[in-house]
Amino acid sequence: GPPRHVSARVAPLGSRLVLTLVEDRTRERRIEAVRRDFVANVSHELKTPVGAIKLLAEAVQDAADDPEAVHRFASRMLTESDRLAHLVQQVIELSRLQGDEPLESPEPVDIDEVIAVAVDTSAMDADAKDIRVLVEGESGITVLGNLEQVAAAVANLVANAVHYSDPGSKVLVSTRTVDGFVEISVVDQGIGIPKDEIDRIFERFYRVDPARHRSTGGTGLGLSIVKHVAATHGGDVRVWSVEGQGSTFTLTLPHHAYDEAPAAAPVTAT
Ligand code: ADP
Repeated sequence: GPPRHVSARVAPLGSRLVLTLVEDRTRERRIEAVRRDFVANVSHELKTPVGAIKLLAEAVQDAADDPEAVHRFASRMLTESDRLAHLVQQVIELSRLQGDEPLESPEPVDIDEVIAVAVDTSAMDADAKDIRVLVEGESGITVLGNLEQVAAAVANLVANAVHYSDPGSKVLVSTRTVDGFVEISVVDQGIGIPKDEIDRIFERFYRVDPARHRSTGGTGLGLSIVKHVAATHGGDVRVWSVEGQGSTFTLTLPHHAYDEAPAAAPVTAT
């Protein structure tokens, strides 16, 4: 009779509701765990430069009558505070992006400008290592998004390419449009990434065996920022690499063609 019919319909609905609640709780707990993990990692990473700066300040105090030593300690303090500022900057960028929410008010972003900013950001490091950064491909391409975010993403890729390459080598930044997407590739002839590490490099704070890099300084946050920028823009980032030969990182973003722009302003008769 009817009661049976009703219960037969209510039961699956009810269990689906319970399942949804359980899934929500699981998702909430996972997000909470990721957040706790992130905070723990950030605190740990902040302690290193802060501790170094404190020790160096004490050393400066003790070496007051040795100008040369004071100068040496002070310049190391400067390096450590730059490191700290860079870390804080990246943590702020990342925490803004972590929800992977689509952008609220995307605007046309000029990729030429993005690349100019990125190349400029690494110009000093590239010069210091005699690395030439070349730009080729299509120009005048536009994506729909946030200029600061896209520029930060490409700047991170170029900075890594320079950082993980030997002096005298080349870095190539190239652009092209494929099937409604814009590809921005950063190609280097650097140290490359071991096969078994490649899946992990986009994780927060993950660094491939920090001991293999001559200089420290990295935060392990750059690529995770790139990944989140790609996500908020509806794109993605991929990597090809051969250890000892070089790496190619390709950021793919939806192309914003001019004819997709909001309808042209009405023609006003004069
Ligand atoms: P980091 O601040 O350490 O550069 P990233 O998140 O930008 O952090 O990169 C994570 C790790 O991936 C780096 O520590 C490095 O080991 C590796 N990596 C990133 N880019 C390159 C590259 N172009 N060549 C070789 N290794 C790279």
